[in-house]
Amino acid sequence: APAIELVDVVKDYTVDGVTTRALDRVSLTVGESEFVSLIGPSGCGKTTLLKIIDGLVTADSGAVLVQDREVAGPGPERAFVFQSFALLPWRTVRENIEFGLQVRRVPAAQRREVSDRYLEMVGLTGFADRYPDQLSGGMQQRVGLARALAVDPQILLMDEPFGALDAQTRHLLQSDLESIWEAGKKSVVFVTHDMDEAVFLSDRIVIMSPRPGEIHEIIDVDLPRP
Ligand code: ADP
Ligand code: ADP
Repeated sequence: APAIELVDVVKDYTVDGVTTRALDRVSLTVGESEFVSLIGPSGCGKTTLLKIIDGLVTADSGAVLVQDREVAGPGPERAFVFQSFALLPWRTVRENIEFGLQVRRVPAAQRREVSDRYLEMVGLTGFADRYPDQLSGGMQQRVGLARALAVDPQILLMDEPFGALDAQTRHLLQSDLESIWEAGKKSVVFVTHDMDEAVFLSDRIVIMSPRPGEIHEIIDVDLPRP
């Protein structure tokens, strides 16, 4: 069964009596362990699509299935990585990484073990007790990635996670994500503006139409991975 299945998903936003169609009967399937990028101009509905998969936004019509179950809100098998990092500023790096585990009432000793592992994976072992505003943007996004991975999700939903970073940091994080994906074989839906990034990371690239809410084309990336 696919990890994610969207069938004829429609989403309208109405503000002050004006309705915008953000998604117009979008259908998309993401396989288990597949890395799919969504690319397209601003306003074409990428974030809305990602939030619908995460259950943060509800579709007006159509089917949204994750692991064969209708999505009714966020769930433990999915984790979201934000462009703006969205770290809790009054918590340390370690506390941010452990946050999802704390919510799930994982005991402290076990949380510590998990945060140690992910601190190491993202190269921030020495920064466990720092606060987010004491770190560079790239380091903050590493914390965001570690926080998402710490709950061991099968599905990672990433909304332009590297868009705010300089080119060098972006390349480092792209390589890290590639290794993490290779090791964990998670299903990933990755929103980006950057075609090179999409080609480097993805199995398939979904190109959204400039007309809001439509898929223009789906490209299979069958280049051998570097
Ligand atoms: P993208 O991520 O591709 O930039 P979005 O999903 O953010 O696109 O937006 C798709 C369309 O829906 C845009 O026209 C946007 O203005 C509109 N939209 C998105 N979120 C809201 C909202 N909360 N309220 C009203 N309109 C919205
Ligand atoms: P990243 O690629 O994670 O964004 P940067 O390129 O910003 O990292 O910084 C390069 C290196 O400089 C980091 O790996 C880190 O060792 C160090 N560094 C960056 N910001 C800080 C900071 N606020 N305090 C201490 N060391 C830092």
